[in-house]
Amino acid sequence: MLEEILEFNRKFVENKGYEKYITNKYPDKKIAILSCMDTRLTELLPAALGIHNGDVKIIKNAGAVISHPFGSVIRSLLVAIIELGVEEVMVIAHSDCGACHMESEEIIARMKERGIKPEAIDMIRYCGVDFDSWLGGFDDPESSVRNTVKTIKTHPLIPKDIKVHGFIIDSLTGELTKVV
Ligand code: ZN
Repeated sequence: MLEEILEFNRKFVENKGYEKYITNKYPDKKIAILSCMDTRLTELLPAALGIHNGDVKIIKNAGAVISHPFGSVIRSLLVAIIELGVEEVMVIAHSDCGACHMESEEIIARMKERGIKPEAIDMIRYCGVDFDSWLGGFDDPESSVRNTVKTIKTHPLIPKDIKVHGFIIDSLTGELTKVV
């Protein structure tokens, strides 16, 4: 699989496949999108929103969540807003998300099957990592989006003039539904 990708890449550059993607680092639409890493959304999300290279900043993780108020998502949003001119944020979760109903205890059990030592888990727990909130999923994507929107809107380092909106995208049709 990796060889295939590397071979494609050599040809892509050789044939100047990049020419139609040339742009700069500033998002033309002044929008940042926080969404899920789900593979169904890789091309569907930008296509369904009419987004092209250079239009928006896209931040992705499992579930489109903010798992820590000073973690990498807020860091990325801050850079997008303060340094790159983003004025609006869209939080876009999706139907049938793998992070929905995720159980931290199940994940930990599978880690142990993969050779992670129970002592390591205990030690990390002892150091203050709350596995339930860090690895756990959400029951309802709409309330997850609502929480994420609220976290961004009320964050002490995010300027108050930034508009934040929540949506669910249909993983099959790409239809966006606003979360109010
Ligand atoms: Zn997902």
